[in-house]
Amino acid sequence: MPIQQLPPHVAAQIAAGEVIERPASVVKELVENSLDAGAKGISVSIREGGVAEIRVTDNGRGIAADELGLAFTHHATSKLSTVDDLETVSTLGFRGEALPSVAAVARVVCATRTPDSEAGARIEFRYGNSLGERSEGCPPGTSVEVSDLFGALPARRKFLRSAAAESSRIQEVVTRYALAHPEVRFTLSVDGREAVNAPGSGRLQDAILSLYGSEVAGRMLPVSLADGEVSVDGYVGAPDLNRRNRSYTTLLVNSRWVYDRSIYFAIERAYQGTLPERRFPLAIVNLCLPPEQVDVNSHPTKREVRFRQADRLFSLVQRAVREALIAHAPVRTATRSFSPTHAPSPVATSPAPPRPWTPDVSVPVPDGLALSATALAPAEGSLRDVLADLRVVGQIRQTYIVAEGPSGMYLIDQHAAHERVVFDQIRQRMQEEARPSQPLLVPQTAELSVAQSGTLESYVSLLADYGFVLEPFGDRAWLVRALPASLAARANPDASVALRELLDAVAVEQVVMEREDALAATVACHGAVRAGMTLAQAEMDALLRQLRATENPHHCPHGRPTVVHFTEYQLEREFGRR
Ligand code: ADP
Ligand code: MG
Repeated sequence: MPIQQLPPHVAAQIAAGEVIERPASVVKELVENSLDAGAKGISVSIREGGVAEIRVTDNGRGIAADELGLAFTHHATSKLSTVDDLETVSTLGFRGEALPSVAAVARVVCATRTPDSEAGARIEFRYGNSLGERSEGCPPGTSVEVSDLFGALPARRKFLRSAAAESSRIQEVVTRYALAHPEVRFTLSVDGREAVNAPGSGRLQDAILSLYGSEVAGRMLPVSLADGEVSVDGYVGAPDLNRRNRSYTTLLVNSRWVYDRSIYFAIERAYQGTLPERRFPLAIVNLCLPPEQVDVNSHPTKREVRFRQADRLFSLVQRAVREALIAHAPVRTATRSFSPTHAPSPVATSPAPPRPWTPDVSVPVPDGLALSATALAPAEGSLRDVLADLRVVGQIRQTYIVAEGPSGMYLIDQHAAHERVVFDQIRQRMQEEARPSQPLLVPQTAELSVAQSGTLESYVSLLADYGFVLEPFGDRAWLVRALPASLAARANPDASVALRELLDAVAVEQVVMEREDALAATVACHGAVRAGMTLAQAEMDALLRQLRATENPHHCPHGRPTVVHFTEYQLEREFGRR
């Protein structure tokens, strides 16, 4: 075939593929236009996954009749005029490509009226061909009706999923924009059934309530943190609200819905140790920053952006979410196994055998417990407050501290709690660059396995920072001259055993933590009081005081809970008082 210039409508249909991939892309572009037009109400209705019909109606500022034809031509926009404007663009659109792209691949009717004009205007297209323009009476605002999407492009239609799948993508788009703009009333009707109805009250809580329901809304924790001209706000779910994928994590940058791998990771890192593997948090995080610090023109559908100070944003988001989780999370309440319906026997006098920690998530909690857990969450205050009020009753199995608190009984895992305390101390000292190291009277040799010496090689300078003084001593053997003070404090430490255990453990931790945290957690674990140690009353009191002062009293550095709460309600139920 000889080279030939494609006819404009063919070129347009091909180019439209960049912007309009599927029905949800049409909805996204039209909703963005409505938002840019200052609409306070946007209603979307779709039929058959949006393939048969998509209609988006808004009450925004409308398009002047004499500009309507222009709006449907390529590179026609009212949102910027020079390249420099890109630096500070605050509208969602700016490329002038959406309307012509939609018109190239579907039948389109657009009716619009500006508030100050008497008559409205209507324009119609069929797969890129204009079917003419005329004046028409319509309310102020704009309505765009798109039907028979990809009707003339069987190759594109083939790639669409089922109507149900396409509908749910559309619902996702509307949901995210309703979260991004709680001041706008959004409705979505799917085949005549109302799927979204967000009130547009201006309060994000109200949007969350209408979109995700009251159970979720009641367990979202407010996020708010600023650093200079950059701020993070929104709501994040308590860890047990987790989901199977990331579709409940909404990242907004200056109220623009975007995906950013690194910021998503920052949000997930903030949950570290509190979510089970491959579960994702429910979160709405809005990052506000000066427009010149973000490049919104780096992706054809503007789905991704580029940040000028990505590292700073990463740590700000992580800190914001983490602080919210720690400040507001209620104390973990004992679940399931304590319920009468699940108890192994009514007279369970011997303690249940220890079982590996599994997070109590996504398991429906039996009736009464669910009731007490939710009822208590707001009344209870943070774990920090609870810890201040605990009265230690005693110790059981030399492992758990029993305490009475504001609303029931609390069991504290002494090892997990102390591990958290030591971990925080270690990290604190690292920051202060005080590295207490305890020289050994007699240096000890440690023979290492191949794996251990591999780990040691990658950790050798970090180990020195922590107070290890090590010297190579022949093939795979090392001379230990000093230990971190927190390890040496344990009665009669065998330095070579301590080093070997540490290297094994750190190799495991490293999989889920950053190297530095992995080492701190392992050193903390080895320096912490073990289960199986008798503690005096004063020691238990001191431990709870110290736990209260830690950065995250809820979990040990490995993510196991430190405190479990048995509510009064649960106790009363167990004893048949309720
Ligand atoms: P862009 O949004 O990038 O400017 P579009 O092709 O989406 O490009 O829209 C072209 C122009 O049409 C916009 O710049 C805007 O002036 C106008 N327009 C589109 N949709 C609407 C709407 N719902 N209300 C008011 N004006 C609109
Ligand atoms: Mg647009």
